Amino acid sequence: MPPAKREISRVALAPLWTECPRCGRSMRRDYKNRRTVFWPNRTISLSLQVLRCHTADCPRRMRPYRPELEWHFALPGNKFGLPTSGAIFSAYLQGRANLQIHEEISRLGVSIATRSISNVILYYERLRKEVAAPWPAGLVRQLKEQGSAVLNLLVLYERPLYVLVHECVSNFTLIGGDGELIELFGSLMNRLPVPVAEIYCSPHTAVSEAARHIWRSVPVLHVTPNGRLHDPRQYLQHLRVSNTSLPQPSFEAIKLILPDSSSGRLRSEKRRK
Ligand SMILES: [Zn+2]
Repeated sequence: MPPAKREISRVALAPLWTECPRCGRSMRRDYKNRRTVFWPNRTISLSLQVLRCHTADCPRRMRPYRPELEWHFALPGNKFGLPTSGAIFSAYLQGRANLQIHEEISRLGVSIATRSISNVILYYERLRKEVAAPWPAGLVRQLKEQGSAVLNLLVLYERPLYVLVHECVSNFTLIGGDGELIELFGSLMNRLPVPVAEIYCSPHTAVSEAARHIWRSVPVLHVTPNGRLHDPRQYLQHLRVSNTSLPQPSFEAIKLILPDSSSGRLRSEKRRK
């Protein structure tokens, strides 16, 4: 069967939070990163605005803060993207051999070496084994230093449900796991040395319900598979109810990640506020 035709999508993302997670002062738009990730039948070219705090005495001074929604496209250092990795890991769990997986993934129009398939499988197996393992001291120190956590809950594949939790400020993937979500998130909450300020979640009912159950007072925002916020009204609602002592996301960033029609609505709703 010939490989599927590939589409190219260009996506510009900017952080929703523009204030430093640590000192609360405005971060500067210091530079842009470009990244290309390979999804099934689609190449995604990401343009990413990176912010940094310039406050002299801030522990996060000059540390990059990348767009929160970047990790819904691909984890750090992963060029194949979550849907491709999910397809690989799911085929592996169903007992298929690497060569067979390679054939299936190539048919989706993703050019990938068999060795890379083994690497993807090893990476997710390691995350799954590390669910209960102690975190490195450096990560715990960094989390304490940043003062709060911003979580991305990502669904790698659905049957059986396998979820990843990536923390935006430290840029670490904290855990990956399947099974009982309440238990998984509950143990994560107990281990995190700082409060969670915000959660970006794949629009999967079981995942968002478990997150709301565990982090009751934290806003849980849905992100669509294209890395956009699911419903701008949900975001406006969040701005009205969120704790004003926390840094606030900017509307400029939201406009960047929303389709034109929605950003028009957003602007007019903002004026009425
Ligand atoms: Zn700062």
